[in-house]
This record gives sequence, C-alpha cells and structure tokens, in this order.
Amino acid sequence: MGSQGVSVKKRSWSWQQYLNEQKAEAAPPTLFTQSFPSRRTGFRLGMKLEGVDPLHPSMFCVLTVAEVIGCRLRLHIDGYSECYDFWVNADSADIRPAGWCKEHGNKLHPPRGDETDFDWQRYLHLVCLSVHLSVSQGCGFRVGMKLEAVDRKNPGLVCVASVADVIDDHFLVHFDNWDDTYDYWCDSSSPYIHPVGWCEEQGRPLTAPQGHPNPEGFVWEEYLQETGSTAAPSSAFTLRDPHGFQVNHRLEAVDRRNPMLIRVATVADTEDYRVKVHYDGWSTQFDVWCDSDLPDLHPVGWCQRSGHPLEPPPGQTDRLERQTVCPTAGCRGVGHIKGAKYTGHHSAFGCPYSDTNMRKEVVLPDRLGGERVVTLVPVVMHYHGNQSDRQPRLQAALHQSVFLSALSAQPGRDLSLCWEQHRKLLPAVAGVHAHSVQHWSVQQVSDFIESLPGCEEQAKQFRDEQIDGRAFLLLTQRDIVRIMSIKLGPALKIYNSILMFKHAKDGSQSHGEDGSQSHGKDT
Ligand SMILES: [Zn+2]
Repeated sequence: MGSQGVSVKKRSWSWQQYLNEQKAEAAPPTLFTQSFPSRRTGFRLGMKLEGVDPLHPSMFCVLTVAEVIGCRLRLHIDGYSECYDFWVNADSADIRPAGWCKEHGNKLHPPRGDETDFDWQRYLHLVCLSVHLSVSQGCGFRVGMKLEAVDRKNPGLVCVASVADVIDDHFLVHFDNWDDTYDYWCDSSSPYIHPVGWCEEQGRPLTAPQGHPNPEGFVWEEYLQETGSTAAPSSAFTLRDPHGFQVNHRLEAVDRRNPMLIRVATVADTEDYRVKVHYDGWSTQFDVWCDSDLPDLHPVGWCQRSGHPLEPPPGQTDRLERQTVCPTAGCRGVGHIKGAKYTGHHSAFGCPYSDTNMRKEVVLPDRLGGERVVTLVPVVMHYHGNQSDRQPRLQAALHQSVFLSALSAQPGRDLSLCWEQHRKLLPAVAGVHAHSVQHWSVQQVSDFIESLPGCEEQAKQFRDEQIDGRAFLLLTQRDIVRIMSIKLGPALKIYNSILMFKHAKDGSQSHGEDGSQSHGKDT
C-alpha cells in the first residue's frame, strides 16, 4: 500500500499555460458542488468511522481510513477485502463519525469477524465533518413513501420505488422487491425521481415491483392499498436548475476507471443535469457521463489547493521511466482493475485502461456473498436520453420479464405468463425447441446470437468461448454477464432466448402456438 504510485514528477505543467495553449476556459468554481477545501483534513491512517458502502448504499459500515491524499480518503470496509475500498472526499456526507448510527437510530453493519474497538480519542481529531452535518433542512420525504424513480444502472427504466431511509435532506431510493445494490441517495431536486403517476402522464412505461403478479397491469391505487403505503406528495419534489457547465470548460476530475487519480479534463458534452467528461490526452472511449453535481468533479486548482497530485495529459511531462511499466499508452501502471487490493499493475490484464478490460465488464463477487457480482469500474452505459423511446421500451420489457423469470423460484411459470410478449420481442426465437438447440454447433450458436437485435458484436465472444448448443442452454444469466462479460442489454436478450428455448421444451403442449416447427417432440 502507499501512495508512491501517485507521486508524480511534475516538471513544468501548469494550468495557466495549458489553458492558454488550448485557448480554453476553466469551468467557473461556482458551478461545482465541490468547492475549494477550506482547511486541512484531520483524517489519519487507521482512524475508524462509519459510512455508506457505495456498492450497498443502504448499509452503514465500520470503516478505516486506509489512505489519505490531499482532501481525499481511501476507506476500507473492516473485515473485507481491499478490493472493496473506495475513495471519498473528506467532507462527504456519506461518512460519519463513529457512534453516529447509534445516535441517529441507523443500523450499523459491524465488521466481519471480531468487533472492532472504536478509538474515540483519535476520532475527536477529525474536523472535516461539521460542514455537511450542519446543513440540515429536512425534506418532505418519509420512510416508506412511494415514488417513481429512474434505475440508475439501467437509465431507460423508471420503476416503482420507496423511500428507504432519510438523513437530513437526503433520502435513499429503493426499488420495491429488488436488492439494495440498485439503491441510491438523492435529494428532493434529483432529476431521477418523480411523483406517483408521472409515467402515466408522460406516456412512459413504468416497471412494476419485482414479482408483481401482473406487471403489465400495475395500478398505483391498488398497490398503495395492498402495501398500506402512501405516495410521496408532489409538493415534496423540487425542481433543480440545469447546471451551467459548457462544452470545452476545463476541470479536474476523478478518473472513474482509476479513482485514486485526478486528471485534467474537459466538458465534452452536456445535458440539463449531466456532463460528459473527457480526460485530456486520452481516447474518447474513456469519456464518461456523470451528474453535474458529482463530488468527483473539481474546479481548476482544486488539487493544488488540497494537496492532491494532478495527472496532466499524457505526454505533457517527462515521465518516460514509468510509462514502460504498463503496455497501455498513457498509463503509468498505477491502480488496478480489481480495486485497491493491488496498487499497481504491469500488464494489460490488470490495467484499468487496457482494451480487454474496456471491452468487458470486470466483476468481483459481492462482498456479502451469494450469487451476486459487482463491478468496480463503470461499463459504458447506453443512455437513451433524447432518442426515440422504442429502444428503452424494448429494454424495459425484456428487463422486466427476464429478471422476473430469472429471480423467481420457478422461472418457467413466470415466463409462461408473458409468452406472447416474448415472442413479439424476439421473433427469431419463436418456435425453436431446446432439443434442437441442444444439437447446435458452435457456429450455429454464434449465428443465432448474431441474429438477435443489438447482439451482433457478441457473436464472436460465443465463438471464442466455444459455446455449443448444449453449453448455451446451461448458461445462467450470471454466466452471460460475468464470464462472457456482456453488457446488460445484449445479455438480457440472450438470456431471454435461452429461457424461451427451455420453455418451448417444457411447455410446448400447453401453449402449442409454435405450430409448424413443433414436430420432433422431446422425450
Ligand atoms: Zn495500465
């Protein structure tokens, strides 16, 4: 461990000179939620605190300060692998002093293994917390209230959601009957939340809670009555002003693929509440859309003021000696695709920027065990913002049916409920039986994948993995997303097809709608 990896020899790079050369403007500091740090952080290595696990936003955990760079902290979740360490600003509202949960009636998830003793004395030295704790205006949202919210991991979907926790003016959005990895914290002005009835008004599909007996015919009134809950009042929602960032504004941004680093960056595109960040000197494939209020976006000069190294654009400083460490152009071998367990890498395998790691979703087992996996680095999300809503609809319908099927105890049963719908969504699959798929060659499987809308690129992966018909039918949703490293959209379609084949096998008699091709009956 240690920060030797980030101590960069900066010869002569300076913002002023760079802005002049580029004829570019720094984004004005007033546009950022993250202003210049007003004092030095008092956090020291080994100090204990409480905070939200970013991969399980509903959980407050016991944390240890594992690294301090400027005003940023790497926090370790006690009792778990360093893979799950994460970076926050020292004044983040997501971290709280030891004892905070008890005082505020929040459940604190203890470390795995032995209870850790809190060092209250040392904790008293922390200073950076008071800022956020004092901003407490409260809000009109109460725990248990229902709303409609965008699934941030699948931004095409608006889903039935509940307020699961409230702290000051922030609250936790939870999707009904889904696990907490989809949860997120927001405030009343978040563009991702809407009052009950919003989708209907907008003519958009609303994704019903997981396991809802009639997802197509979801009715809010009935649901509120069944669950004995109330809708969050429209008056509680507030309107956020669009941000003031403009294309070509320069800033300092945490590298999303390697969060120990802060890079010189440019606003490449904007929407009302989001900006597309481009890391100067890097390929546009690393560009990333983020919320304009993301605490990882900093004004020009923030690093210098807070004592954090700033990564200038590659090639702007004389650092050839480190460049040779990793084969990826521009990468100094700092950081690792699997998180803070490894501080550096020497090959494309561990490189956060290598072609192989860009193409696939690199996943780790969830620290809490079970079947779930998590990703530490963002996969490129296809956000359908202003496009026609056909694609999100298809995605929404598939998402709903696949996840409903995949997560229920009897996949076949749920699937049969929406058989007709599936046939319309994926016509190529209709009428094909599992017993014939079973005999498919690797090439036939790959041809089939290629025929699915939007899955053309995945066909090669199936060929490379030598997936024949028999193997294809054995794939689980997890296999497809994890082992095959396929993005969610194509994975949904592919997995959906497998379920449909299997269903055609089991249920051909009861459905009998696949007429002409249903000859060879299975045993
Ligand atoms: Zn590298």
